[in-house]
Amino acid sequence: MTEDIKAEIKPIELNENSTFQFRCHPGVSCFTSCCRNINIMLTPYDIIKIKNKMSIDSSEFLAVYTEPNLLEKTDLPVITMRMLDDEKKSCPFVRDGEGCIIYEDRPTICRYYPVGFGALSHKMQENEDKDFFFLIKEPMCKGHLEKNEMTVKEWRQDQGIEERDRINSGWMDLVVRKQTTTTTMKFTEKSKKLFFMVCYNIDSFRRFVFESGFKDMYNLDETLLQKFDDDIELLQFGFAWLKAMFFQIDPSGIFQVDPEKAEQRIKK
Ligand code: SF4
Ligand code: SF4
Repeated sequence: MTEDIKAEIKPIELNENSTFQFRCHPGVSCFTSCCRNINIMLTPYDIIKIKNKMSIDSSEFLAVYTEPNLLEKTDLPVITMRMLDDEKKSCPFVRDGEGCIIYEDRPTICRYYPVGFGALSHKMQENEDKDFFFLIKEPMCKGHLEKNEMTVKEWRQDQGIEERDRINSGWMDLVVRKQTTTTTMKFTEKSKKLFFMVCYNIDSFRRFVFESGFKDMYNLDETLLQKFDDDIELLQFGFAWLKAMFFQIDPSGIFQVDPEKAEQRIKK
């Protein structure tokens, strides 16, 4: 959202069944004006979708298109899109008249708009396991004048958000757990780097799994390892590994270090 009008926005609290009126299409006079001077936090799945769309490695995508930040209250790294250094601070993927050139793979936060998703901060603040939404009515956004009514649930389905939330749920779980144990738990710089690699730099994590001796520490069978060609499978595995490592929650038991293998590795 643009900085100069943030102060005018009064978010309207919504739940999944709340209705609102909205439609965005290339014919609106404000087309693409919401793609400038904004703060777009990227989820792990957003990064995978966009770097694959561009056929580049996740390290290259992170270096060229994003910047790291720390998520308030958790001290965990998050990734935001780097806006261009032009007059309007445009998103690198917006084109005048054409719109978003990665539309099919646009980030989750762009899909939600004008609905804001507050589940993460709400869960962190209230320690409640419930979703929380709000409607953002920015004066420049003419989509609210279009006669098209829907519920938040319908909007989420229409925008393909439910699948994204499902894939990102392991990441959100880690962030919320870290927040709720933050007074007793401090992550080392190394822990934060591992969190960053698993959640945001999937190609680097794949190299770590196969080239660092990682897979020799655990009893990972070949069938499982073969699945790691798939970014999403590897991401889910990574979330489970971080959960076992940081919070000692490992229902599958696969992250028990094999003592024999650990000894062999030490000898090596
Ligand atoms: S990613 Fe696409 S939809 Fe999102 S701000 Fe950039 S141009 Fe707009
Ligand atoms: S209607 Fe709203 S969401 Fe659509 S382009 Fe205009 S400002 Fe952006």
